Amino acid sequence: MQYHAANTDSLMSITNRPDLVFERGEGSWLYDHQGKAYLDFIQGWAVNTLGHCPPEIAAALTAQVGKLINPSPAFYNGPMIELASLLTANSVFDRVFFANTGAEANEGAIKLARKWGRLHKDGAYEIITFGHSFHGRTLATMSASGKAGWDTIYAPQVPGFPKAIYNDIATVNEKIGPKTVAVMLEPVQGEGGVIPADIEFLKALRELTTARGILLIVDEVQTGMGRTGKLFAYEHAGILPDIMTLAKGIGGGVPLAALLAREEICCFEPGDQGGTYNGNPLMTAVGAAVLKRLLAPGFLSGVEARGQYLSKRLLELSAKHGQKGERGSGLLRALVLDDERGPEIVRRALEGGPKGLLLNAPRPNLLRFMPALNVSEAEIDQMIAMLDALLAK
Ligand SMILES: *Cc1c(COP(=O)(O)O)cnc(C)c1O
Repeated sequence: MQYHAANTDSLMSITNRPDLVFERGEGSWLYDHQGKAYLDFIQGWAVNTLGHCPPEIAAALTAQVGKLINPSPAFYNGPMIELASLLTANSVFDRVFFANTGAEANEGAIKLARKWGRLHKDGAYEIITFGHSFHGRTLATMSASGKAGWDTIYAPQVPGFPKAIYNDIATVNEKIGPKTVAVMLEPVQGEGGVIPADIEFLKALRELTTARGILLIVDEVQTGMGRTGKLFAYEHAGILPDIMTLAKGIGGGVPLAALLAREEICCFEPGDQGGTYNGNPLMTAVGAAVLKRLLAPGFLSGVEARGQYLSKRLLELSAKHGQKGERGSGLLRALVLDDERGPEIVRRALEGGPKGLLLNAPRPNLLRFMPALNVSEAEIDQMIAMLDALLAK
């Protein structure tokens, strides 16, 4: 049965979707309207931390939905307090503001830095970001992003985001001036092609920003919540950022995001920041359930171990098919192809059978892997076998 085009005519066309409808998900597997199974190494773009429909999330939603869905962000609620406390107890940050999307959390980070600049840096407002970075799709976060073409598509941009070169500390130093208030970066550039920041670069960036009296903001929307094998990716470098944003993995599939900051930086006053759904108990109850699972003994070391296993298997595959190796951190990895077959492989992986495979090609010569953090070695082996067959053609 084909889904007739007329059925989808009511949706705005914002991406080229394949002609199928997903109806059910379980762990690493998705099932479409014809019952075909797909091994999912996209997981909602590194979102479904515990896979599709995990019992922890079902239980948290079911328990909360019968108790309280939305008292209004003007009041405290239990899950909001619990999740904020868990986040501050397990990071270097002291306070949390909840949001709904990564872009919204980043907007909050930009506002917090600008307010801090107004109070403490003589009105400095510029935030240095990086070429090929991705920070979201609002006007300010598109302006902060270093994605090609984004400077003109909805021009004029929001001013105040000079771009430096990733992993090149000298270019950051050059961009710092009297108007600079912060540097913002992804510890691994995800959409830009799974490019990890060097540990030495992160350390140098913290030293430089401290010496110049400006803030360091880490956008951990994709790298946070265990994705790289540590709870947060900044931990790999042992640095102390001033501000961090989270989204994607924190909700495990539901819309939830967070802005975290150290006490000295928290300068929002009542009325400065808000949002109708921010901190609602239905979503924060899910966030708390996800985080508790990540904090359970052995979970993060398991992510680390399976990240290394995926890396090893990808390297073997690369060598076998004469490709160009792999890179990444934890369970955020990419296979580098020796040609531009990425999009074609993604399409054949989806359409192939009897079982499909869901992959993503952020660049034509790159395949990205973002499985559930509880993916099994057997599922990794199954993905490698499917990819082996695809690369052979
Ligand atoms: C996905 C992503 C965002 C945007 O998050 P949304 O929830 O889509 O707004 C921001 N920063 C990074 C690093 C991301 O990967």
